[in-house]
Amino acid sequence: MDLGEFELIRRFFWRPSRSPAASDEGVLLGIGDDAALLRVPAGADLAATVDTIVEGRHFPAGSDARSIGHRALAVNLSDLAAMGATPAWATLALTLPEADAAWLERFAAGLFGLADAYDVALVGGDTTRGPLTITLQLLGHVPAGAALRRGGARAGDLLAVTGTLGDAGAGLAFGRFEYPAPRVEFGLAARGVAAAAMDLSDGLSGDAAKFAEANQLAAHIEVERLPISRALRDVVPASQSRDWALGAGDDYELLVAVAPQRLGELQGAADRLGLALTTIGELRPGRGAFFSLDGRNFAPKGSGFDHFR
Ligand code: ADP
Ligand code: MG
Repeated sequence: MDLGEFELIRRFFWRPSRSPAASDEGVLLGIGDDAALLRVPAGADLAATVDTIVEGRHFPAGSDARSIGHRALAVNLSDLAAMGATPAWATLALTLPEADAAWLERFAAGLFGLADAYDVALVGGDTTRGPLTITLQLLGHVPAGAALRRGGARAGDLLAVTGTLGDAGAGLAFGRFEYPAPRVEFGLAARGVAAAAMDLSDGLSGDAAKFAEANQLAAHIEVERLPISRALRDVVPASQSRDWALGAGDDYELLVAVAPQRLGELQGAADRLGLALTTIGELRPGRGAFFSLDGRNFAPKGSGFDHFR
């Protein structure tokens, strides 16, 4: 069955009667007009991010549409988490080979399942025919001047990561690849405590180099400290899990720099969220990312994902 464009939008994405629990805060005008009208809280900065995921590139052809809907939002939530911003509104540009109602149903379920969990309102979008591509823009807000940035850390600051690394790379069935859990609450808690933050989307070895560069410092990472999940340790040798933790990407954990005297505060925030926070190294004067394993220099395989390399 092929639906018309308007019918498709109305049926799957327009939700004038959302549950009363959903706040739709700041939405002056949502789907249905030529543009949405939004209002950030007084004294807030607007945080904007966008990500495109393409079939065959970011997810295998034939992936479950529910996971695609979830991922499209999750990767953007992860970016706002890394800024310490509160997510609020999304727009969705959807390119579909066909208007398949069953597919759209599952896609919307994945998207809105996560959107409702974070009170994100879908306020507009665009729908076109073509190879399956999903572009989602996420907007949020943060008290003026308070956003966490990649830069701003100092030599001597510790490097720490949330959660565990390498699970997505392992493609293990923890749902970590298909259903990443963005660290939104931790990002909010880290605001004003961490000195700098970024989310890990392309693998720690490449992302640590970007982080170091943004701070004009050198990142020194002790590979034996990397948090590897029990499940991953149980199924592959340590060297394999290390490679995935360093190079595979798609973990969507946060990498933060924190002054040593504030680590306890940050650890407390992680504990309250039931989230692991592991110190993996520190920033020192210099440039670049350096890795050691049990005291010896260690060269990670590859250097992170790059679409044009
Ligand atoms: P326009 O031609 O003015 O851009 P459209 O006819 O494309 O508007 O879309 C009608 C309304 O539906 C707009 O408010 C638009 O933002 C919204 N919309 C279109 N596609 C989507 C989508 N995939 N998800 C959410 N909203 C959408
Ligand atoms: Mg218009």
